[in-house]
Amino acid sequence: MVDFTLTDEQKDLRELARDFATKEMRPVAWEYDRESTWPADVMQKAWEVGLMNTHIPEEYGGPGLDYLSGCLIEEELGWGCSGMGTSISCNGLAMTPVLIGGSEDTKKKYLSMLTEEPKLASFCLTEPGAGSDVSGMRTTATKIGDKYVINGSKCFITNGSHASWYTVYAKTDKDAGHKGISAFVVPRDLDGVTVDKKEDKLGQRASNTATISFNDVEIPAENLLGEENQGFKLAMMTLDRTRPGVSASATGLARAALEFATGYAKERVQFGVPIAMHQAIQFMIADMATKVHASRLLVWQSASLLDQGRRNTLESSHAKRFAADSAMEVTTDAVQVYGGYGFIREYPVEKLMRDAKIFQLYEGTSQIQRLVIARETLMPSRAVEPAAATV
Ligand SMILES: Cc1cc2nc3c(=O)[nH]c(=O)nc-3n(C[C@H](O)[C@H](O)[C@H](O)COP(=O)(O)OP(=O)(O)OC[C@H]3O[C@@H](n4cnc5c(N)ncnc54)[C@H](O)[C@@H]3O)c2cc1C
Repeated sequence: MVDFTLTDEQKDLRELARDFATKEMRPVAWEYDRESTWPADVMQKAWEVGLMNTHIPEEYGGPGLDYLSGCLIEEELGWGCSGMGTSISCNGLAMTPVLIGGSEDTKKKYLSMLTEEPKLASFCLTEPGAGSDVSGMRTTATKIGDKYVINGSKCFITNGSHASWYTVYAKTDKDAGHKGISAFVVPRDLDGVTVDKKEDKLGQRASNTATISFNDVEIPAENLLGEENQGFKLAMMTLDRTRPGVSASATGLARAALEFATGYAKERVQFGVPIAMHQAIQFMIADMATKVHASRLLVWQSASLLDQGRRNTLESSHAKRFAADSAMEVTTDAVQVYGGYGFIREYPVEKLMRDAKIFQLYEGTSQIQRLVIARETLMPSRAVEPAAATV
């Protein structure tokens, strides 16, 4: 049986997030976008009401929510402002490898740090020369005694300027391609960790994106996550778990664009009638609505599989590819419905169109999602190790 009924608790969580997005995010979203303001105040409030760190288990101070509940929250935050939503949910990306591969001591130390105080963590996979093809990374971790020494540079790191610790991927075997990558927790305050460059972006300007460098950074060997040389697998398992949430955020953004376009189409009069009376506009609105609805269904399915303890690699790529591309299409159509006004900053939809673009790029570009979908469709037995993959 397929049942799309939410529990009362899930409905309450969605209501909490919707209320938060309406009262705390929407009133400042366009101003923060213009000024490229990092939303420290909004994030503090999100932490206080329990909208951050949603998947940290109760034993480490988190709410231990299921993945579907996390997606319900992310859709609302994406609706409020997807740039702020990215900032609020980024801890989830950084802490998932710790949840999967961390020792009990590591989990206690680093997960509790996020729940006891409104601290942040970032996920450091991408490098200037290694984006979609993470096997080309040049950051190294060299084992010396009971320590690893990390050297290298990671770019485009969300919340990088503000994080207290990083999940860092580095080569422990330079000649083994993706089979020579390991993952580590690296505290920000260690000697040799520097925050270098904050990016000035097209969209999601209320999120922080920075370059982080590691210069002879010494970390205890116990900060290794999982087994040595299993970091690539850990990154892929992480992305299976986080892509439904990112896709939910894209769905929320698209829903916002649909709502703005619908409202405008009913008010704007041309040729003596509201433009919503013209069939060309109606069909555009219909296609936008279908894309939002289908995105949500793919998100819910990919999250539900996780909640059942089942593998969701294919389904999370379906959700990410479709929701990201749909967000781009729906926000572009919203600008079209607004006509020339859609192009003007005073009106709301040009921000949404700029914000949408990143969904086709981060946590695996739309092309990389197609690679995963094609591989899983053509060779469903090849379970874990994709040839090209990405954050
Ligand atoms: C705002 C922002 C936030 C980000 N946050 C993080 C973060 O927190 N942590 C992190 O580690 N990274 C982060 N990233 C990095 C992001 O995940 C990468 O930008 C993304 O994976 C693409 O890598 P690239 O930019 O190097 O593009 P490339 O890999 O160079 O790709 C360029 C183009 O080639 C295409 N392409 C590449 N390989 C193939 C192929 N085999 N087949 C078909 N097409 C291909 C791509 O789809 C793309 O269109 C962020 C990026 C941005 C812009």
